[in-house]
Amino acid sequence: MATYRIAVLPGDGIGPEVTPEAMRVLAAVAKGAGVSLEFEQALVGGAAIDTAGEPLPAASMALCQQADAILFGAVGGPRWDDLPPERRPERGLLALRKELDLFANLRPARCFPMLVDASPLKRSVVEGTDLMVIRELTGGLYFGEPRGVERFADGGARAINTMAYTSREIERVARMAFEVARKRRRRLASVDKANVLVVSQLWREIVTRVGREFPDVTLEHVLVDNAAMALVHRPTQFDTLVTENTFGDILSDEAAILAGSMGMLPSASIGGKVGLYEPVHGTAPDIAGKGVANPIAAILSAAMLLRYSLDMAGAADRVEAAVERVLGQGHRTADIARPGEKTLGTREMGDLVVREVEAGA
Ligand code: NAD
Repeated sequence: MATYRIAVLPGDGIGPEVTPEAMRVLAAVAKGAGVSLEFEQALVGGAAIDTAGEPLPAASMALCQQADAILFGAVGGPRWDDLPPERRPERGLLALRKELDLFANLRPARCFPMLVDASPLKRSVVEGTDLMVIRELTGGLYFGEPRGVERFADGGARAINTMAYTSREIERVARMAFEVARKRRRRLASVDKANVLVVSQLWREIVTRVGREFPDVTLEHVLVDNAAMALVHRPTQFDTLVTENTFGDILSDEAAILAGSMGMLPSASIGGKVGLYEPVHGTAPDIAGKGVANPIAAILSAAMLLRYSLDMAGAADRVEAAVERVLGQGHRTADIARPGEKTLGTREMGDLVVREVEAGA
């Protein structure tokens, strides 16, 4: 029987509430698929700062490096907001991404048919939305050198950030995007600002070149300003999008509102040796400890783990179908309920998804 090791880093706030539900769903689907999953937990974020004095202790990093995949909750909270930047909980996540060379961030945004009314956008706009934003995660403006602020004697100042990409960095994320698009509806939109930025001109050149290896995927180039408009105007025109770090940061959050609630959005950071899977949402201090957080984002992140790290597409489909059935039966956590509708807690929602996974095996 195949055995996989999953490093579990629940983190802070609602992280430790939603992550166990994702683990239970993984365990249920693995049982049905005849695969053995070994879960090993480690500290990260504020929880690690409180216990070990740093946001990513060496033992947590070692566990992640040796795992087949990482299931991550969320980190941060008001308790640790006053710490200096290098000691804050978020450092734990950034260190993991960097150390594991997770250069591609996959953010699906799907508007489930039964949740169309939970989106702030009109039904006619969001209905049928099912897209994947792939954001380059380790290069571009956020990391480019030189960077810094120059202060002048007259009191003025000048600040610099540098947007830089090598052809190798573009090529690897482009190839990943074509491969993802190939498993979806075989349409890839590469988003850039090639009418202004030379970095984008190189981006377009390399993506076009990589595209020749994927004649079955239709490639189009979209300027980032047009993409921003189209996402809220006609999101159904997109299937897979790929873009550089900064544009991806903004567009993936914009795409998030199409899905209705933060509690529904999974993500994957892949490319290196070990993939990391986490809900898009943070630690939700306003509802932490109440047992009301929506575990679906974490559960759908677990489905991505099955698909992209364990190559278990059938099992991933089963989890996604189970979530859809539970929603179809009308079950809702508070964040996706209509006023007056009965709501379930985190654990109850997890129970229902587990039951549906078992029923669908
Ligand atoms: P947040 O995503 O934690 O919460 C935003 C809003 O969405 C809140 O009202 C929250 O209650 C709601 N929400 C989020 N997830 C939900 C769920 N599963 N079910 C129901 N409702 C949910 O964002 P924030 O409030 O800006 O940040 C809170 C903390 O989380 C901060 O410390 C921030 O730094 C951290 N954060 C961490 C990550 C991460 O670990 N990747 C990401 C974003 C924010």
